Amino acid sequence: VMMEAWRMPAAAPRTIVEKIYHEEELRRAIAMKQLINYYQPKVALSTGKVVGVEALVRWQHPTDGLVYPDQFIGVAEAHGLINDLTHSVLKQALQDMASWKQMGLEVQVSVNVSMDNLSALDFPDTVSALAASAGIAPTALILEVTESRLMHDLRAPLEILTRLRLKRFGLSIDDFGTGHSSLTQLRDLPFDELKIDRSFVHGAHDMGNIRAIFSASVGLAKELGMKVVAEGVEDAGDWAFLRFTDCDLAQGYHISKPIPASDFVAWVDLYRR
Ligand code: C2E
Ligand code: CA
Ligand code: CA
Ligand code: CA
Repeated sequence: VMMEAWRMPAAAPRTIVEKIYHEEELRRAIAMKQLINYYQPKVALSTGKVVGVEALVRWQHPTDGLVYPDQFIGVAEAHGLINDLTHSVLKQALQDMASWKQMGLEVQVSVNVSMDNLSALDFPDTVSALAASAGIAPTALILEVTESRLMHDLRAPLEILTRLRLKRFGLSIDDFGTGHSSLTQLRDLPFDELKIDRSFVHGAHDMGNIRAIFSASVGLAKELGMKVVAEGVEDAGDWAFLRFTDCDLAQGYHISKPIPASDFVAWVDLYRR
């Protein structure tokens, strides 16, 4: 690898290999509160109203700048740090919800959870306690689980998911279309929202094969009484197409990039105009 790098011409892009962080550095970062939540708005297609946001974690690294989750979530999962990481994201999300609420802005917040979170038996009680102490109703918090990870080993997380649902937290299947769930599996799982992966959203309006998977997914979700979110809404074409489907909500760069908590209220004011 060193030889290859040495041979590379000076003009070669430098982002081919992203830096992977060491667990010790990440452990310290979590303890020192260097992980911060960004939020990406979710908008209702029928009314254009902002109904929620998804929390997306970033690492405000003292020397490397803003580091994206793909560079450290795997490290956290591999080294037993994911429970602390999720706890940090949840806590910030609930605090931010509470302060938005004080400013008259009530939105749902979605938080991404890993499979390891769903094997900790105390997870539902931990989430409940955090929500209660922030004064946030469980129905305002949605937990997102990636379809492919979930379908890989369904039995273990089912009990935790069921307990979360009984406590009235929202549950969402993320990146839908990439994990090959069957109708039977979906019917037996306690999810109330389905997020269609961006690979079946962006460009669906002019590519029939993509549109076919998109439409089948929306039909399936509606049949099962679930809310449907399209992610990766990148341009006006995507947005225009979605308005003629049964999809409920849209999320993507066309609406907004993920932004810091402190920018969200101003963003909503601008968006409303
Ligand atoms: P995800 O949950 O599927 O989140 C959506 C990702 O797509 C985000 O990347 C978001 O910035 C990006 N995105 C949003 N709109 C668009 C669009 O219109 N076009 C395109 N091409 N991309 C768009 P991000 O923030 O880099 O996060 C990457 C992944 O990292 C997330 O994918 C999620 O799986 C994971 N992740 C992020 N935050 C957390 C967290 O707090 N906990 C855990 N366990 N995983 C997280
Ligand atoms: Ca997600
Ligand atoms: Ca997703
Ligand atoms: Ca994804």
